[in-house]
Amino acid sequence: MRGSVLLVMLDGVGLGSPDPRRNPFVGARLPTLTGLLGGALPLLGCGVLRGPQAVLVPTDACLGMPGLPQSATGQTALLTGENAARLAGGPVSAYPTRPLAELLCRQGLFRQVNSAGGRSTFLNAFRPESLEGIAEGTYRATATTVAALGAGVRLRTFKELEQGRAVTHDVTGAHVRRLGLEVEEVAPEEAGRRAARVAAEHNFTLFEHFLTDLFGHAGDLEGGRALLEVIDGFLAGALEVALSRGVTVVVASDHGNLEDASVSTHTVNPVPTLAVGPGWEAFSGVGSLTDIAPAVMEVLGEGRGGGRQASGRAHRRA
Ligand SMILES: [Zn+2]
Repeated sequence: MRGSVLLVMLDGVGLGSPDPRRNPFVGARLPTLTGLLGGALPLLGCGVLRGPQAVLVPTDACLGMPGLPQSATGQTALLTGENAARLAGGPVSAYPTRPLAELLCRQGLFRQVNSAGGRSTFLNAFRPESLEGIAEGTYRATATTVAALGAGVRLRTFKELEQGRAVTHDVTGAHVRRLGLEVEEVAPEEAGRRAARVAAEHNFTLFEHFLTDLFGHAGDLEGGRALLEVIDGFLAGALEVALSRGVTVVVASDHGNLEDASVSTHTVNPVPTLAVGPGWEAFSGVGSLTDIAPAVMEVLGEGRGGGRQASGRAHRRA
């Protein structure tokens, strides 16, 4: 297996309207994101946005099922390439059901990469109580954790966080500190550099950020803007290291929410899929959440049908 992908999964970030009273993307300072896309801001109806080594594709998150899209099915689709909402008979929120968990273990990206002889890792630092709960079987794991554990991927600890080899879910540690945990606070750019250094040593690295969904449910427009600015800084730091080390950085989301502060629920809006770096072209044809995992495998030289040609799938779709 060749190449590296850093997948940044943002929970609940869709493409919204240009209304600054609803959409925190409008009015947020996002120089990295807009700089990658020739100055354009990703909004509803924006179409495919391109830059010199980057693409942002509006991606359907509804998976052909009625009802608002939800995290467990969206994340399972994103991580496995299978239509998890159809498998489950409709959207499933928060925690995967048993069939979804089995699918995540069998076919999650961690498993796909490891089975093909590659190395995968989950970048998030888990707090000691969570790791104890997992060991005791009392922890309710979301799709990402189920997929990692199901593939035998070791979870990163606060010790690795201290060593700069893990990142807290909130990127900087500021939110985690407010919850009373003693973690170092780092600049978003430094968290991004740390993420890309770990990614360069692996074929597949996942980082999950879920505050975007919580702020979306709270309708917190100013908080949402601040989060997007942190993520933009993280992206800047990640690209600083990633582009010189052959790492493709992908930012994806499971469903809309944050982009519309006028509702406290998820939305049916398409979600942005951003790909930057050597494998970006493989993501040009990502129309649905189910296209993301195959595109990741294609960048790693394991295209659909066992083909090893880069970007073949995207070109066929175009
Ligand atoms: Zn939610």
